[in-house]
Amino acid sequence: MSISLKYMSLLKDIMEDNSITPNGKKSLYIICSFLEKLGFICQIIPFNDINHNNNSSNTHTEVYNLYAKYGKGSFNLCFAGHVDVVPTGDIQKWKFNPFNFTIDKNILYGRGIVDMKGAIVSYISAIEEFLPVIDQQKMTFSIMLTTDEEGIAENGIKKLLPYLKNQGENLSFCLVGEPVSKNSVGDIIKIGSRGSATFKITVRGTQGHVAYHEYNDNPAKRIIRILNRAVLYKFDNGDQYFSPSNLEITTMKCDSGAENIVPEVAFAQFNIRYGNKYTAEILFSIIEKEIIGEDIKFTNLEYHSSGDSFISTQIDDNLKSVANAIFQVSNIFPEFSTYGGTSDARFIKEYCPVIEIGLLGSTAHQINENCSIDDLNLLKNIYNNVISTIIKKYL
Ligand SMILES: [Zn+2]
Repeated sequence: MSISLKYMSLLKDIMEDNSITPNGKKSLYIICSFLEKLGFICQIIPFNDINHNNNSSNTHTEVYNLYAKYGKGSFNLCFAGHVDVVPTGDIQKWKFNPFNFTIDKNILYGRGIVDMKGAIVSYISAIEEFLPVIDQQKMTFSIMLTTDEEGIAENGIKKLLPYLKNQGENLSFCLVGEPVSKNSVGDIIKIGSRGSATFKITVRGTQGHVAYHEYNDNPAKRIIRILNRAVLYKFDNGDQYFSPSNLEITTMKCDSGAENIVPEVAFAQFNIRYGNKYTAEILFSIIEKEIIGEDIKFTNLEYHSSGDSFISTQIDDNLKSVANAIFQVSNIFPEFSTYGGTSDARFIKEYCPVIEIGLLGSTAHQINENCSIDDLNLLKNIYNNVISTIIKKYL
């Protein structure tokens, strides 16, 4: 079954909302009124965000979230996602305006189509047929959407979960619609995530004339040694749940401002994605002791972690039935994986089992982000069969 016209027009409406994080209030209200027509009870929940940009002192904005609910039963099957999107990048490089929803040769183009407005619409479209048939005394369908996932992710799902718990909402199982598929839609069920930590290193030296190097101390030389050790460091070989930990340099800055001056400061930043052998603190200590070491002086090391690695659900018979439900639709038996970026699943796993199933991640965050209509339909049918299996197996 393909996605109907009514859903394509919902998709168009939210795709045309420029919801660069933490915007997206308009998309939430559009989805809210759509869901209300289907019989959902909706709440728009704003959280106050102070200093969102954390470099300007007095910014004060509201970040919006939606919780929509259908039914009163104790088994609450939740879908979680976000309507905020990442910035467009160089808009001149886009084939079509990223906020004009464009269909060209059966391909849908626009910022956020795979990450993850397309999945949201596929899910709502998949759930509609269950609404008249479920026992509303036993079962609840809920949808939890935020506008703060791509940014600092402080005022979205992270705050929404305890807020809802206080209202007596207990989630039983959650599906997140991130674009986790690799080669074809439904080939990955994400059941956890690697940890992610960013390390910032500043090396200080002494500025001076390049011709009189004996009076200067060039920090560039030392930061190169540190980065060289960092990229060569062998963290681990991975295991059945996690691929080998990986370090990527993301920033290198060192500019004296002129060709005849030795710089005073060098700065570098790298990110490590890691499995369950490490925590961010353990990595900090490895970097401090083994990568920077005692021989490289005048350095400052800082880090922040967006979360250590985790497994969000066990691979049990129920989960294998969910995988089988995907196979029945796509003909590909999905792989259980923890690969890829971090998502709001890291917060949800504290409340209930979570899996992630979504569109192809290959164009997420890229210029010309796109998805085929066939993929959108396939995802809808996958969600449909997964919902039906979860109802049968878990309820
Ligand atoms: Zn996303």
